[in-house]
Amino acid sequence: MDPKIFKQQLLDQLYAPYKKCIECPLGGLGRKNVVFGEGNPDASLMFIGEAPGQEEDEQGRPFVGRSGRLLTQTLTSLGINRPDVFITNIVKCRPPNNRKPFPEEMAACKKLLLIHQIKIIRPRVICTLGAAAVEGLFERMVKITHIRGTILEYLESHVVPAYHPAYVLRNPAVFDIFKKDIQKAYFLSLKNQ
Ligand code: URA
Repeated sequence: MDPKIFKQQLLDQLYAPYKKCIECPLGGLGRKNVVFGEGNPDASLMFIGEAPGQEEDEQGRPFVGRSGRLLTQTLTSLGINRPDVFITNIVKCRPPNNRKPFPEEMAACKKLLLIHQIKIIRPRVICTLGAAAVEGLFERMVKITHIRGTILEYLESHVVPAYHPAYVLRNPAVFDIFKKDIQKAYFLSLKNQ
């Protein structure tokens, strides 16, 4: 069977029981949609952000607000077609007032969904966006300015941390660094294919 079709079926089966998830406090704090993620189920490059914002919560899709538009434009400028990658977040539900997700919320969502998404997709490279995504994945605090652009390992994937696009919108001077880190993740994902 085509791995894309097979992996999509596995992702659908994973998502199905959690469409109205109440396994962590975020399930009862007013979110409209559990934003599972979208893209190529057989992607060699996967992006992991922090949490859905208002527009993502309303549409049920990741990175469709202002940050998402910057991410999509940056991908396009590097010759990356958004549907060819997989995009998700550490937590799938919008935290109230867009607060940073708590460590327990990140740990719960990782255990129930994110880890399984990674094991199904098996991306060559994961590009994390912002400090919370690295902290959620590795369950330790990091300074994004120190760790961005380095190469870490998680399960069988390389991990390239990058700035969060919302931070780039507030600090346009770091846009070139942001773009360079995404390019680094992309080039790494193309190696020995
Ligand atoms: N939108 C998302 O989907 N994730 C973020 O981290 C920010 C905005």
